[in-house]
Amino acid sequence: MIYNKITEDILTDIKQIIGDEWVISDRAGMEKYSHDETEDLRYYPEVVVKPGNTAEISTLLKLCNRHLIPVTPRGAGTGLSGGALPVMGGIVLAMERFNQVLDIDEQNLQATVEPGVITEEFMNQAAAKGLLYPIDPASKGSCFIGGNIAHGSGGPRVVKYGTIREYVLNLEVVLPSGDIIWTGANTLKYASGYNLTQLMIGSEGTLGVVTKIVVKLIPAPTVDALMMASFNSNQEACEAVSAVFRAGVIPSTLEFMERKGVQWVIDKDGLTFDMKPEDAAFLLIEVDGTNPDVIFDDCEKINAVLEAHGCTNVLFADTATQKEELWRIRRTMGVSVKANSVYKEEDTVVPRAALPQLIKGIKEIGDRYGFESVCYGHAGDGNLHVNIVKANMSDVDWNTKLNDGITELFELTVALGGTLSGEHGIGFVQKDFMPIKYSPVHFELWRGIKQVFDKNYILNPAKIFNR
Ligand SMILES: Cc1cc2nc3c(=O)[nH]c(=O)nc-3n(C[C@H](O)[C@H](O)[C@H](O)COP(=O)(O)OP(=O)(O)OC[C@H]3O[C@@H](n4cnc5c(N)ncnc54)[C@H](O)[C@@H]3O)c2cc1C
Repeated sequence: MIYNKITEDILTDIKQIIGDEWVISDRAGMEKYSHDETEDLRYYPEVVVKPGNTAEISTLLKLCNRHLIPVTPRGAGTGLSGGALPVMGGIVLAMERFNQVLDIDEQNLQATVEPGVITEEFMNQAAAKGLLYPIDPASKGSCFIGGNIAHGSGGPRVVKYGTIREYVLNLEVVLPSGDIIWTGANTLKYASGYNLTQLMIGSEGTLGVVTKIVVKLIPAPTVDALMMASFNSNQEACEAVSAVFRAGVIPSTLEFMERKGVQWVIDKDGLTFDMKPEDAAFLLIEVDGTNPDVIFDDCEKINAVLEAHGCTNVLFADTATQKEELWRIRRTMGVSVKANSVYKEEDTVVPRAALPQLIKGIKEIGDRYGFESVCYGHAGDGNLHVNIVKANMSDVDWNTKLNDGITELFELTVALGGTLSGEHGIGFVQKDFMPIKYSPVHFELWRGIKQVFDKNYILNPAKIFNR
């Protein structure tokens, strides 16, 4: 696809639509928008615009369609697959001014929010009314709810509460043509034709720009318990994961962490956590609900399962501070790994019971290619983030062999019944691996859908798959 550059005349039109003060075209001002949290990729747009309402986006997209200018929607830029990067140039459409929680409807347990609201801020506003919005990615303090929708995000609590897909009821969307639609209805059920709401979720900003979001909320749990279980091997920890569920308990979180990841958090943040020399892996398990007796009972059942699977110690967090400290270890792990080495993160997901085979295979592949890996993630969902660290690998090997290693990693994931990404999306960096899992028929269907929504291919081009 040949796109046009933004001329002075087009820039003048853009400024007229969005307002001078919300259009950035100097390099220093655009620096922040040239990258996200994906390794060290950098793509500068020609212009960054910060629209203030839906009508402005509609007019802008009509203009871009006329002139064949690519447009990349952007949330908070915490993405890990390069989805918000303007790889074909053109405009970055920054959604940060869409930052209002418009309504929390306590009658219907629903809320209407704008896509630029920080996820944690929305969670807090819901919590203040005794309600739970359970989609809490580890990046919840900085990512936007619109970015979460675009990636079909999850977080630690998916294991009990489901992903964002289970909570979004209806979306206001500006299509690439400039048309504005609501995708569904503000109802808990929907059996009225193709479900455009679900199609939009996980479409990574390639089909439309989300401008309003209606989500369902649930009554907040009132009691919880948190435990950190230590194991002498990754294998035993991963085997315990599916056993917990087989014992009849659904924890609200079940996270896996390798020793090295924990060590790096401790080193970086100066946290005090008593790690024994023989500890190789940890499970961070939370149960929640409204009845303390049930919680106690669940903890006992979990404890018995852990013991039967070689757990050497269980630390119960007694206080809110202790809980917060344990969660900090998990939540800051990504940042600590990044601070420690050149790295590459892959987001694998397999059926839960296949986790032991996955972790074993990851280490075997690493041994063959000479890279180390630090794994952690939402084990309860079978979702493991594999952080490949360069460590002692030579620059030549890192640049020439790593891709083959990652290909093998995804081949293993797919062979175990899994897929390429559980929550980080495909974006720009994973798309070349998609044929490992998906057939030419899938690509034909996806391209057909894209064509229907975006006939000139202007919205977030070169993401998920090539044209
Ligand atoms: C430390 C750390 C921890 C993380 N932990 C988790 C985790 O536990 N779970 C998880 O799921 N993810 C996690 N992530 C990844 C990331 O935070 C999520 O993918 C998040 O949903 C991205 O939101 P964002 O607002 O930053 O979006 P961006 O990175 O800005 O954009 C992501 C995608 O959304 C599109 N987009 C943004 N806004 C809109 C809109 N309004 N309309 C249409 N498309 C739009 C963009 O085009 C892009 O394709 C983590 C990231 C970091 C850095």
